[in-house]
Amino acid sequence: MANNDAPLMLSISGLRGVVGDTITAEVAALYGAAFGSHLRSRIDRPRVVIARDSRPSGEAFLAAVAAGLASTGCDVIDLGVAMTPTVGVMVIHHRADGGMVCTASHNPIQWNGLKCLDGDGVAPPPAEAAEIVRRFRERDLLLAGPTAFGKITRDESGDPTHVERVVGLVDVQAIRAANLRVVVDSVNGAGCRPARMLLETLGVEFVHINGEPTGVFAHTPEPTQANLVDLCTAAAKGGFACGFAQDPDADRLAIVDESGRYIGEEYTLALAALRVLQREGAGMLATNLSTSRMIDGVAKKFPGSRVVRTAVGEANVVAALKPAHGLCGGEGNGGVIWPRVCWVRDSLSGMALVLELLATQKCSLSSLVKQLPRCAMVKRTLKLNAIGGMVALPPAFAKVRATFVGERLDETDGIRIDFAEGWVHLRASNTEPIIRLIAEGDDDRAANALADRVANAAGLP
Ligand code: MG
Repeated sequence: MANNDAPLMLSISGLRGVVGDTITAEVAALYGAAFGSHLRSRIDRPRVVIARDSRPSGEAFLAAVAAGLASTGCDVIDLGVAMTPTVGVMVIHHRADGGMVCTASHNPIQWNGLKCLDGDGVAPPPAEAAEIVRRFRERDLLLAGPTAFGKITRDESGDPTHVERVVGLVDVQAIRAANLRVVVDSVNGAGCRPARMLLETLGVEFVHINGEPTGVFAHTPEPTQANLVDLCTAAAKGGFACGFAQDPDADRLAIVDESGRYIGEEYTLALAALRVLQREGAGMLATNLSTSRMIDGVAKKFPGSRVVRTAVGEANVVAALKPAHGLCGGEGNGGVIWPRVCWVRDSLSGMALVLELLATQKCSLSSLVKQLPRCAMVKRTLKLNAIGGMVALPPAFAKVRATFVGERLDETDGIRIDFAEGWVHLRASNTEPIIRLIAEGDDDRAANALADRVANAAGLP
């Protein structure tokens, strides 16, 4: 029986559910068949790269996904346990027609999920994502005849191919010469092996905590300050240039400075963008409306650069970056998209860029952080059912619109109000039944004051 607190979440970001309750092998096979049917409706014999994060339910679910895809006539290339961005890399590498990842990203072990990538290794745009969900819901499948089933093959080259791609883009000699030492928390997720491979190749000495991909997460897996106590303690012992934390599918990266201070995921994108602009010169950057203004501060250091803001979601950021040949993009949750690697947020790109920054600037991480514009963000969540569900949102937005009529408003995704002293973004989550209220100001007090102002105007508790 479905649990009302833990529904099967179906959205443009894919599917997410509770293992053995709302997500089962049957659901995984059906979702694989729905995606396979979507591809088969346009391509004769699609090829699809699949992988999973390390959680124990993933092996069976990925086998079910492979079965669903093959039963609709797709050939399947199975990477086994791999990072989500590795699938993005391998879709391009194999010139495949799509990718599927079995992961619940930063959610705890009770959860699992599925998401799709298109033939460029990009999260599909909303209309296509909705079509996959429709086929899943309506069981509108194009099942193959007895001689047309797809083949399922294993490919062990995902990790080295991804690592080589990143290493090929950075100054390995400079990083090696800097004799950096770091501490890494891979949360026993899909990032364990490739993180080790990357650091070994770059000649970076490291201490690896939670470095076995067992999928039994040693702490709540979202790489937030509260969950990274062990990493901060380890980094604070001294002798490390910084600490890195990945989430279970290793698309997000959080950073700890040389004194063991958690600097916050917002800095990951700002530091990576800084390094990309240093290497490549002025250019276009893209990020979502909920991400810190720090990236605007970075862009200002390189005249001629610009920052494009999009709706929340990787697909939206990529949709802005790709046609404009953007240099770097991502999201404030520690998600760095370096288009020269792939179109998926990638913790390996983030690590390599930050290491190159440390190696070439020859200063500490904390001093690099000090050079970025100071900001503070507050992120609040509200359960949708506590305010009466989605129907309560349009009237709340209308009240905000009326109250802040003189300010700069952006309604691309929920509603964002830009004030001189900061901004507030109010929107419904794509992946959970919650409302997010995010505010940024010069310090915590200012950010909280802005958040309160908008929450009060919207009539939210
Ligand atoms: Mg993730």
